[in-house]
Amino acid sequence: MIAEVIIDSRAKKLNRKFDYKIPEKLEDIITIGSRVLVPFANFKTLEQGYVIKIKQNTEFEVKEIAGLEENLSEEKIKLARWMARKYFCNVSECIKLMLTPGTKSKDIEKRLQDKKINFVYMGVSENDIDINSLRGEKQKKAIEFIMKNQGLTIPEIMNFSGVSRETINSLVKKGYIEIKQEKVNRNPLSLKKSNENKKLKLTEEQELAIEKVENSIEEKKFKEFLLYGVTGSGKTEVYMQLIEKVIKNGKSAILLVPEISLTPQMLDRFIGRFGKDKIAVLHSKLSIGERHDEWIRIKEEKSKIVIGARSAIFAPVKNLGIIIIDEEHDSSYKSESSPRYNAKEIAEKICKENNIPLILGSATPDINTFYRTNLENIDDRKITLLKLTKRANNSSLPKVKIVDLKKELAIGNKTMFSTLLHKLIEENLKNKHQTILFLNRRGYSTFIMCRECGYTMKCPNCNISLTYHSFQNKLKCHYCGHEENPVNICPNCGSTKIRYFGTGTQKIEEEVKKEFPEASIIRMDVDTVSKKNSHEEILNKFKKENIDILIGTQMVVKGHHFPNVTLVGVIEADSSLNIDDFRANERTFQILTQVAGRAGREQLPGKVVVQTYNPNSFAIELSKGQNYDLFYKTEIELRKQLNYPPFCDIIVVGFSGRDNNEISKLSTYVYKLLKTNLENYNIKVFMPMPAPIDKIKNRYRWRIVAKGKVTSEVNIVINKCLQKVYNSGISKNTNIIIDVNPNTMY
Ligand code: ADP
Ligand code: ZN
Ligand code: ZN
Repeated sequence: MIAEVIIDSRAKKLNRKFDYKIPEKLEDIITIGSRVLVPFANFKTLEQGYVIKIKQNTEFEVKEIAGLEENLSEEKIKLARWMARKYFCNVSECIKLMLTPGTKSKDIEKRLQDKKINFVYMGVSENDIDINSLRGEKQKKAIEFIMKNQGLTIPEIMNFSGVSRETINSLVKKGYIEIKQEKVNRNPLSLKKSNENKKLKLTEEQELAIEKVENSIEEKKFKEFLLYGVTGSGKTEVYMQLIEKVIKNGKSAILLVPEISLTPQMLDRFIGRFGKDKIAVLHSKLSIGERHDEWIRIKEEKSKIVIGARSAIFAPVKNLGIIIIDEEHDSSYKSESSPRYNAKEIAEKICKENNIPLILGSATPDINTFYRTNLENIDDRKITLLKLTKRANNSSLPKVKIVDLKKELAIGNKTMFSTLLHKLIEENLKNKHQTILFLNRRGYSTFIMCRECGYTMKCPNCNISLTYHSFQNKLKCHYCGHEENPVNICPNCGSTKIRYFGTGTQKIEEEVKKEFPEASIIRMDVDTVSKKNSHEEILNKFKKENIDILIGTQMVVKGHHFPNVTLVGVIEADSSLNIDDFRANERTFQILTQVAGRAGREQLPGKVVVQTYNPNSFAIELSKGQNYDLFYKTEIELRKQLNYPPFCDIIVVGFSGRDNNEISKLSTYVYKLLKTNLENYNIKVFMPMPAPIDKIKNRYRWRIVAKGKVTSEVNIVINKCLQKVYNSGISKNTNIIIDVNPNTMY
């Protein structure tokens, strides 16, 4: 028998099949999806490869497979091949995402070891113990305890019986007890204690939502749903009851959440409902050992529910019954490095293959997702809308006040705090209620704005804020390449109060200290959150110690319950509005709606103050009442007019390398190739130009942007062009990437 093998390599030239003979003794074991070791090029080293097909004969003279490493399912291999075409990358790169963590090829020698722990057992039977030979009460006490409690660890015995390490050692010497090394699971949940989380009686809306999904489960058909409900409307309860039903049917579930919302609070609810044995968690903060062991537990069907961030979509779940993606609008579901996949698209593919439902949940759905709930004629990508319109525990939505910072400036207030926010913080400090101050900052781009009238410099072609490049002292559009000189006088009102924006949390902290010296403060941003648990620690500290003010970026807004937080202040809502991205309005609306959801989730009513220079921006105005429907209607019109997603896809072809001249030439060559080949598919290819950040780590960066619908035919055409480019030979340190609908345009 012959196996077609793909070599594990990122080299584009190796993105093809090689034939190998399957040794007789492995004939029954090696299948499609096997990870094998094969001799390659010279016979000295073995390379890792993946079997993608098995056949009887080959026309070549072939070498033999040297060893078997792991068996993936055939379904996973199929998925990897589909991904490679869709996301323009090597099959082996995709397969890597599906392998057991900690067993990757390059570290075969230093392969992860199973974790072993010492457990204590009796070494002799009870009758064989000569009590008289036991010196003192301590040894007697220890023996009695161990007899009753075999299989504990040494620290456990010391803890529970109060005997010392020496006592245990001397019993081992006498042969009365034995220490055995046993393999244990590194379980990230092992130390977690949770309160029981009782099933709630569903509201009518929740009931209806569950019923609709259940119907599709009974029909054994793929169906996609959007569970759209304001924060606190009981989406999580719906997830839990759906998962319960799926498990009752003997199947398993995957729940994806944004990395940052994998909080203890959220896990507590699931553990409290299902017990920790049934749950596996996967996220980047786990040690490689923990990830390895969780993966194995899933594979061996010991856990039924996988809760994890983006890459958990590839977990080796057998007998899958449902996939749920919470906060589906979150940008972390899209990978920004190769393979540049979108977990929502992968989920759709997996659910289709398995004829099971896919549930997307959000309070502020992705515009593209919501658009698909309105598709009347197109059936295959239509999403069924499930609505939860009320907060489940009857708490009211917070009162939102929008403050015009231009007016504050006019009355001479040059601090970061408007008169209103200042007053409310003071009140909160007096009442011992907590405050969150939120800095809406994405990326590090700087933009220019008139402090008098709120005018920002925008690209004449794209309706997107221009980004200031200090090095060249130019304003640039990252979409079409338009550039102009920064102005000193506002083109709108003639004022000279032009400001360069870009505020940090640190600066806010300084100002808070100055204005409210008596307040206790805690800060959370990428600088303070680096250690394994410090995200959790900071939030716990804030809650437990009743710290007066929490200052933070995006991280503070996701999925936390702070009963004592009654005030949320958004220091400056504008920065996400002025990012050079067509999603600026959407991001702003999402963030503000989520921040507002942090205030007054329980008995205490919440207040939110949104400070802005653009009080009339519809994204800011509509976030006030969490009016998603109207926001959607306004935004989708704009997208249609400007031809942005969902009306088209944005394709970015990126080039990088050490020689600027070479990269520039290469991009021109690719541009011509794409333009000729994609013209018939109604795709507009724009001229190549330097990337917004045109040099990173001494590598020059160019790129081509194209707009149009990326269908599977378009995919094939682009792949063919790419292959042609590689075959024509490009220099070794030159890199080409293709990303469809990336999160950022850098
Ligand atoms: P979401 O996920 O939409 O933010 P949650 O599921 O967290 O909402 O629910 C918000 C609060 O309402 C939680 O405290 C939850 O326990 C409670 N809740 C949810 N469903 C119900 C229900 N059917 N009856 C009573 N309380 C509910
Ligand atoms: Zn102005
Ligand atoms: Zn432009």
